[in-house]
Amino acid sequence: MGLSVSVQREYLGAAAGQLPPDQCLPELWIEHNDDHSRALRLLGALQRPPQRQWHCRCGEFVEGGFEQCWNCGAPMPGL
Ligand SMILES: [Zn+2]
Repeated sequence: MGLSVSVQREYLGAAAGQLPPDQCLPELWIEHNDDHSRALRLLGALQRPPQRQWHCRCGEFVEGGFEQCWNCGAPMPGL
């Protein structure tokens, strides 16, 4: 593809837990100007990620795409 970008902060918001939404959006750090249009499309896709939410056996509600409970470390059911 030749698309050379790196995704930053994708999981920072969920990890920090308390950040306001405008600081939780994914960012693309573009290294080559030619990739700008493709990067914009990719960024748009990242802003509409498939949300996975599940209830852990310990009772915590896990969201943000995590496959492991942040509270007790149990894996997401079905993996
Ligand atoms: Zn748990």
